[in-house]
Amino acid sequence: MERQHDRTPPRCPAAPPADPTPCQGPHDAVTIVDRHGREVAGCVHHCARLLAGLEGARVHPFVPAVSAMDVYLRARELPPFAWEIGK
Ligand SMILES: [Zn+2]
Repeated sequence: MERQHDRTPPRCPAAPPADPTPCQGPHDAVTIVDRHGREVAGCVHHCARLLAGLEGARVHPFVPAVSAMDVYLRARELPPFAWEIGK
């Protein structure tokens, strides 16, 4: 597969623009569903950070249990919008 030379985002779609942290693992490891039913796929790192700040959000049911648990455990340790306080 040829690597694209275009403006492919260097981070997963779940990475908040204000969050400077890099992705961890595949960019489509997990899908988060917010309370309005909107879905966003991302790495476990950014999905956990997103989940910690999104009231009513959850991991999509099709996500493998191991990845879902990883995200929930990470999110539990995070404050909402962790990047705003430099975490
Ligand atoms: Zn990411």
